[in-house]
Order: sequence, then C-alpha cells, then structure tokens
Amino acid sequence: MFGTTLYSAILGLSSKWRISNAAVDESADCVEIHIGTSRDAEFSCPVCNGRTDMVGDSEHRWLHDDLFSMQLKIVARIPLISCETCGVNRVKAPWERPGSNFREGDTDGEKEESNIAS
Ligand SMILES: [Zn+2]
Repeated sequence: MFGTTLYSAILGLSSKWRISNAAVDESADCVEIHIGTSRDAEFSCPVCNGRTDMVGDSEHRWLHDDLFSMQLKIVARIPLISCETCGVNRVKAPWERPGSNFREGDTDGEKEESNIAS
C-alpha cells in the first residue's frame, strides 16, 4: 500500500529507526509495522540527555485506531540504555510523543484495560 518512507514520515522516525516490515491486512483494514533501530544508533539519556550505552532491548506494541481510517499496529524493539547517572531506561519512541494517539498495549486483544488518561 504505502512505502516504508511514508510510514517513516508519519511516525516521525529519524535515521536511528528502521522499518523492517509493513504488512497490510486489507480485509481487516489494518496495517502492522515492525520497527527496530539502526545498528549504529546512539540515544541520549531520556532523563539527563547524557551519553548512554545500549544494554539491550525489549519488544513493545502500540495501536492507533484511526490512521487514514485504518488500524495501525506497531511492533517495535525498543532499546534499553544505561546512563552513568540515571541508570537503565527505555528509549522513548518518536511515535510516543504527546498527541500521537498511539496507545501502548497488547494489540492482539480487543481493548485492554488502560490507565492512560485521555
Ligand atoms: Zn541520565
């Protein structure tokens, strides 16, 4: 349907992020995008903005209910970074910015319970 470049633009991805796969399920009006980070990507500490080392990653899922009238699912491996001052934190993904309307959770179920105020 769309190229990964357009998805990158929609999600605000920098060159640190890579879309590894984008699959459209037209019967379900749903797009599932798989995202990881570039091998050489470096992330600053989300707390103090200092230098960090990448110490691992973890898989997270997000769901957007209405992007061009479709559901958009994101499955992403989010780096865990270690800051000398602040310890280990998870990198904030670009699509987590306020107002992006992505909510984190298990995208395979129907609506999971959520504590996110809207
Ligand atoms: Zn820090």
